[in-house]
Amino acid sequence: MVYRTDYHMHSSYSDGRSAPEDYIAPAIMAGLSEIGFSEHLTLFKDLEDWNMNPVNISPYINNIENLRKNTKNIIIKIGLEVDFFAGKEKEIRDYLSPLPLDYIIGSVHYLGEKTVDVGPEFYEGKSIDKLFESYIDSVCEAAASDLFDIIGHCDLIRIYGYKPSFDQEPLYRKLAKTMKKHNVAFEVNTNGRNRPLADFYPDRRFLHVFKEENVPVCVNSDAHMPSRVGQYFDEAYELLRYVGFTEMAVFDKRVRRMV
Ligand SMILES: [Zn+2]
Ligand SMILES: [Zn+2]
Repeated sequence: MVYRTDYHMHSSYSDGRSAPEDYIAPAIMAGLSEIGFSEHLTLFKDLEDWNMNPVNISPYINNIENLRKNTKNIIIKIGLEVDFFAGKEKEIRDYLSPLPLDYIIGSVHYLGEKTVDVGPEFYEGKSIDKLFESYIDSVCEAAASDLFDIIGHCDLIRIYGYKPSFDQEPLYRKLAKTMKKHNVAFEVNTNGRNRPLADFYPDRRFLHVFKEENVPVCVNSDAHMPSRVGQYFDEAYELLRYVGFTEMAVFDKRVRRMV
């Protein structure tokens, strides 16, 4: 039996469609033992409509804590999905360290001024090889920052299905080694299936690299609506089992254990 958790979900506190309580029943239906909310927090950029306004941090945490107290059939965790910006590590740490979180997902959405998932036009006229390389480099920096417990969608740059021309295994190897060294987990993010890519992050061809480097893993839906909680998890667990994973990472007050 897999101990099922889903730590990557967005409610209406950021860009999800529904209030946090609406995610509980579908999560129980999906056979999950734990869920966690991970609203977008993007410091150092103008507030976009997909971000949580930082003034709502305390109401958000209080709301999820109350939900946790009043919910019996499933364990609820409090997280954030925080954008990584190189050179801002200290500021990010100072901001996050007083918060009573169970885990922090570190994600790279921005390359320069734009997000890589803003639309396929971001890629027009650019070298896919260079973009891929600089994206993975940035994710490596995020992993090495020691700010995060989980790295979100570690190859989001695949979102529109553009493929680099070179063998990517060495880049995935470098990423996996960096994650292991800095004790950070990766996620199999099933939401890629709902995007133009139509497959999970990371690229399933390189999951064995994460296994060989012994990087802790969790399976997350990145759900932005209740109907997607735990979506495609059977397939994700099957894939992980096939590659040789036998344990899932579980987080509590920023401490990880393997189940
Ligand atoms: Zn994200
Ligand atoms: Zn997300």
